[in-house]
Amino acid sequence: MQDYFNGKTVLITGVAGFIGSHLAEQILTFGGKVIGVDNFITGRRINLKEHLENPNFTLLEASVSNPMESYFDPQKHGGLDLVLHFASPASPPAYQANPVETYLVNSSGTHNLLSYLEENSPNTRFLFASTSEVYGDPLIHPQKEDYFGNVNPNGERSCYDESKRLGETICGVFTRTYKMDVRIVRIFNTYGPKMRYDDGRILPNFINQALEKTPLTVYGDGKQTRSYCFVDDLVRGILLFASKDDLQGQTINLGNPEEYTVLETAVLVQKIVNQSVGQENILFANLPKDDPTRRKPDINKAQTLLNFHPEVDFRTGLSKTIEYFKTQESRILE
Ligand code: UDP
Repeated sequence: MQDYFNGKTVLITGVAGFIGSHLAEQILTFGGKVIGVDNFITGRRINLKEHLENPNFTLLEASVSNPMESYFDPQKHGGLDLVLHFASPASPPAYQANPVETYLVNSSGTHNLLSYLEENSPNTRFLFASTSEVYGDPLIHPQKEDYFGNVNPNGERSCYDESKRLGETICGVFTRTYKMDVRIVRIFNTYGPKMRYDDGRILPNFINQALEKTPLTVYGDGKQTRSYCFVDDLVRGILLFASKDDLQGQTINLGNPEEYTVLETAVLVQKIVNQSVGQENILFANLPKDDPTRRKPDINKAQTLLNFHPEVDFRTGLSKTIEYFKTQESRILE
């Protein structure tokens, strides 16, 4: 995998985001060049602080919903070996606060990137960051790639999950019609350092509430489940997928299949942060609409095609994330 990236030029959209910034760091470490694009709606400059002086890193401040010609200049930036399309708000509160930007970046953004490449650089490989949300509130458990999902087309989550589904459609059209090397990764719940402090998803909320010794806000009865993947495992899976030959047109789930209820998650965070053992300091709040009841990836395909196996157990990953949220850096929101 490392050899593939050495000397390659990779354009990463959403480079200042949680996952985009980890991808940039790893590719630079492997000897690649990164051209990062971000409009800083939810991305943070602080996530890029190690790279801004790096000659192998270029930052373009732009919205990838616009045509690629408007921010990318091949004379100046050179040829592209790979595009990783990771721009999009991803947390339910963030995408619900930016619904138009969210559906545009996943639909027009995906179309504009692929159209540009089809015309100017058809051999560039393209990987689209899709999501477990394409399965909606799944009726099949665990979720396998061939499951079509159970999605509300006009619900509070639809600006995200339906636009990711359309993004997948666009990827399919370009790979079938123009024979381009387009791949789709469906990312399940991921956590780790560099998440926004005000992200609003379960682990930043619970960790920060536990650190501040305020009650942990469990939505609903807390019996709904999620399966959490530490960011280092996810990034390794993504880069394995991006770097392997002969995976054109493939869609692969990535995540950690270890499943927890929301309540179990709250108790575990309290145990690690405050050494408390029970359900004290938990505040039950309303369950948001269309909140998926169960979610767990079937990762057999990733295991077979990529030899992907999550290595970081939940406790270890949580401890690393808690340490991050204790730092001053985690409080910087730009
Ligand atoms: N959740 C919760 N308290 C919070 C934030 C989230 O109980 O402060 C629940 C939420 O209702 C959902 C699960 O945790 O059932 C995961 O939510 P998250 O926002 O992390 O992302 P999702 O997996 O729903 O996209």
